[in-house]
Amino acid sequence: MTSTGLLLGISALSLLLGAYFVLPWVMKPWLARRLAAQVRRAGRVCLTFDDGPDAASTARLLDVLDREGAKATFFLLGRNVVKNPGLVRRMVESGHEVGEHGFGHRHAWKTGPVAYLRDLLASRRALAEHGGRGNVALYRPAYGEMNLLTLFYVLFGRRRIVMWNVNPRDFESHSPESVATKVVERAGAGSIVLLHDAREDIATDPQVTVDAVRLMLQQFRSRGLVTSTVSTALAAGSQ
Ligand SMILES: [Zn+2]
Repeated sequence: MTSTGLLLGISALSLLLGAYFVLPWVMKPWLARRLAAQVRRAGRVCLTFDDGPDAASTARLLDVLDREGAKATFFLLGRNVVKNPGLVRRMVESGHEVGEHGFGHRHAWKTGPVAYLRDLLASRRALAEHGGRGNVALYRPAYGEMNLLTLFYVLFGRRRIVMWNVNPRDFESHSPESVATKVVERAGAGSIVLLHDAREDIATDPQVTVDAVRLMLQQFRSRGLVTSTVSTALAAGSQ
C-alpha cells in the first residue's frame, strides 16, 4: 500500500469510527438536557425503572405505585417481557408507560452491529406482541450507551431516547433509606430518576428499590412534587 493509500484508509476508518461511536457519545448530554427541559416545563418528576419486568419485584413495585397513585415509566427488557407478559399488560392498564431497553441488555459498544440491530428489533417485536399496544414511544439504551445504529433506530423506528439526570445507584445499595434520601435530596421539577425494578449484572435485592420508592413517594407528596410518565410530562411540557 502506498503512503497516500494508507493515509486515505486511516482517514476513512477514523470517519467511520467517529460516526459510529463518537457522534452518539457527543449527542448524549444534549439529548438528556433537551428532555429534562421539557419535563421541567411540565413541573414533573419522572420515575423510570429499567431491566424488568421481574415476576416478584415488579409486581410488588406496581402495588406500591398503585397505592400511592403514582405513574411511572418502565424500560423493559424483551427477554423479560416474553417471560412476564401479564405484568406488561398490568402496567399499561394501570396507566404506566412502557418503553424499550433492548432484548438481552446488549452494550452498544461491545456488541457487533448485526447482533445489536437484531437485539433492538427483537425487543420491539416482544413489546408489540405482549401488551405494548402500539403506544411505545420511548427507548433507553442499555448502560446508557449508544452507537450510530441507536440513532438510526430511534429516527426511523419513531422512538425517543430517554436518559436520566438523577441516579441513586439503587442496583448496588442494600439500604432503601439511603436510595430514597439520595433521590429526595436531588429531585425537583425536571428530574428523570433512574431506578431498577430488576437486577441485571449484580446480585442485590430489588426489594431495596421497591421499599425506597415507597419512602420517596411519601416525601414527594409532602413537598408537593407530582410524578408522571415521561410521555405525559413531555406532552405537558411542549404546550
Ligand atoms: Zn439496564
